[in-house]
Amino acid sequence: MKDRVLSASPLRRKLRYFCLFAVNFYIVAHVLLWYGFDIKPWGKTAMTGVPALIRGNINSAAIMVAFIIASVFIFGRAFCGWACHIRGILELSDWVMRRLNIKGYMKLRRSNILLNTRYAWLLRMSAFAILLMPVALYLKKHSFSLTFDMRSPAPWTDLPGNEGLLFASQAPFNMAFSYNFSEIVFLVVLTLVIIFTATFFLNFFFGQGAFCRILCPYAFMLALFDNINPFQRKITRVGQCSGCRQCAASCPQGIDVSREIHHFNGKVRSRECIKCFTCVDTCEGRVLKDTSVAAAPQVIPRAEYDRRPWHNEFKNMQSIEAIGPTLDFVSIILSVFCGAIASRLGGFWFFVGTIVGFVVIRLTIRFLSQLIRGASIVPQEK
Ligand code: SF4
Ligand code: SF4
Ligand code: SF4
Repeated sequence: MKDRVLSASPLRRKLRYFCLFAVNFYIVAHVLLWYGFDIKPWGKTAMTGVPALIRGNINSAAIMVAFIIASVFIFGRAFCGWACHIRGILELSDWVMRRLNIKGYMKLRRSNILLNTRYAWLLRMSAFAILLMPVALYLKKHSFSLTFDMRSPAPWTDLPGNEGLLFASQAPFNMAFSYNFSEIVFLVVLTLVIIFTATFFLNFFFGQGAFCRILCPYAFMLALFDNINPFQRKITRVGQCSGCRQCAASCPQGIDVSREIHHFNGKVRSRECIKCFTCVDTCEGRVLKDTSVAAAPQVIPRAEYDRRPWHNEFKNMQSIEAIGPTLDFVSIILSVFCGAIASRLGGFWFFVGTIVGFVVIRLTIRFLSQLIRGASIVPQEK
């Protein structure tokens, strides 16, 4: 199928790319102001606000997380689609791979094969629980106490080079930094390159947006607040759908949009939706809109979808590597465990360790499985 993502309404797509770029630009500017020019308006704004909130530390990160959660009640996971810096780098990897026209990836992308089993919530929950473990340990030692400090933590906390060391102070090996301007720039570039490389390989093996779909612990947290508010804006059918499924083929999250609106009163209910509007812009009939009003009834006859989206595992959407829930669960737990070991080097390395662990474990399972069965376990493109 032709890549309609590239040809559909480029304006909104470009605006979204711009927003994702701007978030990364903001982070870099914040770091340079803080460390290079000693201008310190507020501290780190990141998802690290979750443990801070739990500990009772009201800081800039905690306030940002509270805003993000509030936004999910109204817009769904639009934060993921428009304002998450990791998503920005992930989209950049996708863009680079499309430009390079990497055959295997393009094939994977066209089939929209992403790892998304019906047990994904269990895997995510495990990742989230493991992420919260240090908080639980902290709370065991220190009692909950309400504090307020907008300048804490510093913007580079948990990242390579924090406190003048490449890794955390307890790491078995290290390298010192003096925080002059060129070293700050080097650390920022190094961090971005590491994130880019990790997401590049994850996308390459498991499809577009794989980190968000498989490993991100915060996706589970945000999804918890999705679909609660009955007036939440959702991708909605506002016209007559022909059933062409262009929308489904274009969704970067692998959602079978067409089936969703067929089964759920004209609304996309999937908690994977990040409000990127690619489906809206791809639909030539202008059938979709992001709104809280009721959907238009479908009066024109259309091919029936007898099975619900998650039943459609080997065709197009909501698709998987069919290795079963047990191996899914084991591979995620093991990769999060790899992340926990890597986090001895600092919080940032949890991200890298989890991705590297996941890629290695899944490829090993793939290889062994093919060896035993003598056939591919990955659904082939139709
Ligand atoms: S799922 Fe996680 S990494 Fe992906 S956009 Fe959302 S918060 Fe960011
Ligand atoms: S919503 Fe639009 S793109 Fe999707 S199946 Fe219907 S007509 Fe086709
Ligand atoms: S359903 Fe539409 S808006 Fe939601 S993630 Fe998929 S393409 Fe984006």
